[in-house]
Amino acid sequence: MLQTDFPVISADPDVIAGLDYWRTLPIKQQPEWPDHASVEAASAEIATFPPLVFAGEVDTLRERLAAAAAGKAFLLQGGDCAETFADATADNIRNRVKTILQMAVVLTYGASVPVIKMGRMAGQFAKPRSSDMETRDGVTLPAYRGDIINGYDFTPESRQPDPARLVKGYHTSASTLNLIRAFTQGGFADLRQVHSWNKGFASNPANVMYEHLAKEIDKAVRFMEAAGADFDEMKRAEFYTCHEALLMDYERPMTRIDSRTGTPYTLSSHFVWIGERTRDLDGAHVDFLSRVRNPIGVKLGPTTSPDDMLRLIDKLDPDREPGRLTFVTRMGAGKIRDALPPLLEAIKKSDATPLWVSDPMHGNGMTTPTGYKTRRFEEIVDEVKGFFEAHRDAGTHPGGIHIELTGDDVTECLGGSEHIDEATLATRYESLCDPRLNHMQSLELAFLVAEELSA
Ligand code: PEP
Ligand code: MN
Repeated sequence: MLQTDFPVISADPDVIAGLDYWRTLPIKQQPEWPDHASVEAASAEIATFPPLVFAGEVDTLRERLAAAAAGKAFLLQGGDCAETFADATADNIRNRVKTILQMAVVLTYGASVPVIKMGRMAGQFAKPRSSDMETRDGVTLPAYRGDIINGYDFTPESRQPDPARLVKGYHTSASTLNLIRAFTQGGFADLRQVHSWNKGFASNPANVMYEHLAKEIDKAVRFMEAAGADFDEMKRAEFYTCHEALLMDYERPMTRIDSRTGTPYTLSSHFVWIGERTRDLDGAHVDFLSRVRNPIGVKLGPTTSPDDMLRLIDKLDPDREPGRLTFVTRMGAGKIRDALPPLLEAIKKSDATPLWVSDPMHGNGMTTPTGYKTRRFEEIVDEVKGFFEAHRDAGTHPGGIHIELTGDDVTECLGGSEHIDEATLATRYESLCDPRLNHMQSLELAFLVAEELSA
């Protein structure tokens, strides 16, 4: 149904004023733009562009996430740490979508649970950094903050934040999302294609396991066809987007008033999250996202106290609305078994039912002596196992995983059945930010998670 079929309701002026209240609050991780006028002009231009997603889709997603929070579905979030403009190519987008579809099939079939598919895609362009500046060979320049802000090349020109990149970020998100919608709605995601998603990927243990599973699915699909079943869910995949809502000069102009209800939605993406570095209770990001209707996530690191968590719930989900709030825990393999249980116990004593998702990537970073940022596959798996253990012990629902991955055969994370070692990292290390699981490591992880889910 078109949104214009509803009576158009305009927003209360207090709602609009509230959307700008963050401007009066402490804010972290924003770029030093060269001047106010040019960034204001770029934001004003973005405010005139069509939304990238629709409020109705966002509402459907909230219902899906409510099911996951209740243990009746599972959320799979995956994609690059930082998307880049150069890599927004058809091949790259297709391979990431294929990898997520394959992981989802493994989880759906292995654990008999509906999987909500969500790409860290079509907008994951702004990055928080541990330091504002970077020094190489005695030269100090602004840190790379993601393609929507500055360039990765280590020159003063490229590292200078450039507001024209905001507009390019919007257009790159639009073309990425257009292709995602074509792939997932136009026949490519048809379950009768399960085999073809695996083509073009090197033959390896995870792919072989996947082929076995695809054969079984084929048989089941043929059986259903023969029995006369023909349902839409088999032909199309619901696919959602997400990114960290970090860059306020982009997220604010992408926030629009829904004409059906008069309420604000951030329409740069279906789901947005607040990072570990910007989740201060009295800070700009938490205030801003408390005022939009999207389902939102908050990353929780190992130092999160039950009290911090409960106060985040009061601020971000005062009505305790099912599907509204997702906690993405990123504790580290060595810490999850100590850090997660107190949070789960505090939740059980409260009236809140957030969706719990494991990000086994961001607590397990390390740097090799040769200077590569990497993660060990075993530690990633161990954190996921710790996450499931903690939920089993507490009687709460482990509702999803959040992974940095690519559909390509990169060598960025150590281990997995290809035994990527420190010497191999250099052969195909392409991430400009954090190391991603490659296609095969992603599939391997999906099989392990399916086992945990059906345990
Ligand atoms: C990320 O998801 O890339 C990220 C920076 O995560 P976190 O906020 O958990 O460190
Ligand atoms: Mn990252």
